[in-house]
Amino acid sequence: MSNPIPVTSPLLPPLEEFLPYLEEIWRSKRLTNGGPFHEQLESALAEYLGVEHVCLFSNGTLALVTALQALRITGEVITTPYSFVATAHSLLWNNVKPVFVDIDPVTNNLDPKRVEEAITPATTAILPVHCYGIPCDVDAIQRIADTYGLKVIYDAAHAFGVRQNGVSVLNHGDLSILSFHATKVFNTFEGGAIICPDKKIKQRINYLKNFGFADEVTIMAPGINGKMNEVQAAFGMLQLRHIESALQIRKRIFDRYRSALTGIDGITLLHQPQGVDWNYAYCPILIDDARFGVSRDEMYDRYRAREILVRRYFYPLITEFPMYRNLASSDATKLPHAHRIASQVLCLPIFPDLSLEQQDTIIDILLSAREG
Ligand SMILES: *Cc1c(COP(=O)(O)O)cnc(C)c1O
Repeated sequence: MSNPIPVTSPLLPPLEEFLPYLEEIWRSKRLTNGGPFHEQLESALAEYLGVEHVCLFSNGTLALVTALQALRITGEVITTPYSFVATAHSLLWNNVKPVFVDIDPVTNNLDPKRVEEAITPATTAILPVHCYGIPCDVDAIQRIADTYGLKVIYDAAHAFGVRQNGVSVLNHGDLSILSFHATKVFNTFEGGAIICPDKKIKQRINYLKNFGFADEVTIMAPGINGKMNEVQAAFGMLQLRHIESALQIRKRIFDRYRSALTGIDGITLLHQPQGVDWNYAYCPILIDDARFGVSRDEMYDRYRAREILVRRYFYPLITEFPMYRNLASSDATKLPHAHRIASQVLCLPIFPDLSLEQQDTIIDILLSAREG
């Protein structure tokens, strides 16, 4: 194989299809600040995803930081150690203390049974992640939030298009955040969004993402610049035309991995819950070296040696990084599931352009490792 195989590759429609969008931007000279493509994409996404309001951002991290601002979150927030580091960073950017609790070993999501014991008088919110796009136990989390008067903000960066019993998973909690980074299922090169249940909170978020401007002379809040520009938004409109077929191809690739790897001693595949229309965003496997015979890190090295760029999402845990590791809640003895899974996980390549031959190579490397 001449070219390295990445773990993911962006959904990139033919360039000719994007040129008319660019010509339109050049004609109108509207480059940003809520231009026509921005407005079109907000309504098109709300319709496609089945949500009330979409508020576009230049990236998912600024959407997260701004969502916490919009709800005036302070004090302590309960979150997961098993995520991309931006989840916890968004709390530090708001001067909020993260309180980490362990994950459920089947869903890889915040375990609601561990949340209650982490609540203190300073707790104001819960920040769960729909890890790999698998929905959190949203009912249990909402019950706890209601009992203790807490807000819920979902980091739904992995959950584009995911539905549970026909309803978008993005409709849960007070706000949800999406990322449209190049590595995600749906991308605008860089980009993100806050999903809002009503117009009032959307208005506040609109102020916050544009310096706090309500009109030329009125500043409502110390806002940031989080606006999505017209080139990004136009690309999003083009992506929407291709997303359904991309999701179908992802499903086919995932199902092929599953039939090849099911039943191998020491390999665990991601559990797909009943009633969930998943987006096949990631293909994580867990490698138990005692049973499989080869460790996760050895497999990582073998893939890398063949230029197959598998990733250990999420290793190290967020609680291992210097700005978090001294928190009491980062104590490894309280996070056994997160630590075990972080030491076993390997994400295999999954993206629409992955060829059958490439996938066979990836599968063979795993199968032949077991045979010695
Ligand atoms: C990608 C990602 C983010 C950050 O999104 P950006 O658009 O890259 O800023 C946040 N949380 C999770 C779980 C992610 O995977």
